[in-house]
Amino acid sequence: MSLNRMIEKAYNLIKGRRIEQISDGVYNVVGEHGTYIVVRKIDGSVTCNCPGFATKKKCSHSLAVMMLNQPALLASIKREAGRSERHREKIRETKR
Ligand SMILES: [Zn+2]
Repeated sequence: MSLNRMIEKAYNLIKGRRIEQISDGVYNVVGEHGTYIVVRKIDGSVTCNCPGFATKKKCSHSLAVMMLNQPALLASIKREAGRSERHREKIRETKR
């Protein structure tokens, strides 16, 4: 999975309100293939118990929790997502 695709998936998790904080630094993330637990450590690093994280040390769930805790990063991704949505609309308009 490309990084951009992973960012997009993470953003959709946030937008779809599929992340629930269950205790301090512990999040319940409802992904496409199951519900996972993401733990955010005091140093800011995150771990997830999904199979993807086990092999690649990164996944959209942990990325989403990271984004939630970095408002500046989230804001820039929101802007980026808005841009590509507008771009898609433009394409639809020209096809009409
Ligand atoms: Zn995960």
